[in-house]
Parts: sequence; C-alpha cells; structure tokens
Amino acid sequence: MINKSKIIVISGPSGVGKGAIISKLLTNSYNIELTVSATTRQKREGEIEGKHYYFLNHTEFSKRIEDDQFLEYCKVHDNFYGTLKSELKRIQDLGKTVLIEMDIQGAQKIKSHMSEALFIFIAPPSMEELEKRLRSRNTESEESIQKRLQTAKLELQSIRGYNSVIVNDCLEKAIHEVKDIINIYN
Ligand code: 5GP
Repeated sequence: MINKSKIIVISGPSGVGKGAIISKLLTNSYNIELTVSATTRQKREGEIEGKHYYFLNHTEFSKRIEDDQFLEYCKVHDNFYGTLKSELKRIQDLGKTVLIEMDIQGAQKIKSHMSEALFIFIAPPSMEELEKRLRSRNTESEESIQKRLQTAKLELQSIRGYNSVIVNDCLEKAIHEVKDIINIYN
C-alpha cells in the first residue's frame, strides 16, 4: 500500500493514452485517488461535473485564481485547466495517495516546490501514432487536433526532469511499467 502522503503526477501530450493508464491504476489495489481538475473547456459528451472535471466559466475560474485556490493552473489549447488545493486536501484526508494528471506546463510549475512527488511522463511512440490516436477519439475538431499536435511537439522537448518516461507503444506494457515505478516509489 502506498503511503498516504505520496503524490504522483502523470503528464504527457493530449491523446497519448494517460486516461487509459490512469483508469487501470485506479481499479488496481493501490490506495490512490485522482484529483478532479477545474477547467473552462466545454463539457464533452458523457463527461460528468465533479467526476471528470469541475466545469467553470471564465469568471468563476478567475475568482478562484484571485482567491489563491489553485496549486497550479495553465492555459492549454485556449482553455484554462487547474488543480485546486482543496482536491489534494480532500484525498490526503482520506489517507490516500494523490494522483494528478496535468499537462507539461503545469507539471513544470509545481516540480520545484514538490520535489517529494513522483513525476511520470507518458510519451507517444511517434507523432504519427499520436495523430492517429487523436483522430480516432473523434472528440476534436481539425483545428483542435492541429493545436494539440503542435503543443505535443514542444512538450516532447521538456521530458527532462521527470523521474520516469514511459513510451506508450503498447497499453498493457505501459501500464506494467507505470505500476513498476509506483512500486519502487512506494
Ligand atoms: P482535455 O481537454 O483533453 O481533457 O485536457 C487537455 C490537457 O489539459 C491535457 O493535456 C491534460 O493533461 C491537461 N490538464 C487536465 N487537468 C489539468 C490541470 O489541472 N492542470 C493542468 N496544468 N493541465 C491539466
């Protein structure tokens, strides 16, 4: 069982398969809970308020920035995303390990003051494969896909500083590798 004060940060380009890896970790026996981020992005079909995100309008999001409620927040693909400090407290109070999924800019921001956390980067096997995955999700417009690919190119240059980089060429293999790292961290 992972110690209650542990924090794991998983990041990587949009469409790389972080969601699938994280779902597997959450169904495992680990005592882990995922923080629910706040975002100004539109809700996608099937997404649930308070489960996938806290969906806020720009005014509500700005108010929380002013009130210093975010551990970090970033603008990603034209929308704001942020991790609320209250989410960390909620999970730590349950005695669980905190799992945070965030984009690379967000991880860079918190890395300096969360040196005890485990930072895992999920990388695509290639840009072509990432584009294929983004398209097969069927959730993004062409413009959004292009933006995500551009961002991914920059993001892949910032993998230094992560405790571990996992290439998601085969989902089952990637899940095993992430579990192994978590066990070592533990
Ligand atoms: P999506 O719109 O596909 O749900 O997420 C877009 C990007 O926002 C992903 O790369 C995801 O990791 C990132 N993201 C989600 N939550 C947060 C957060 O709380 N902080 C930051 N910085 N990025 C986040």
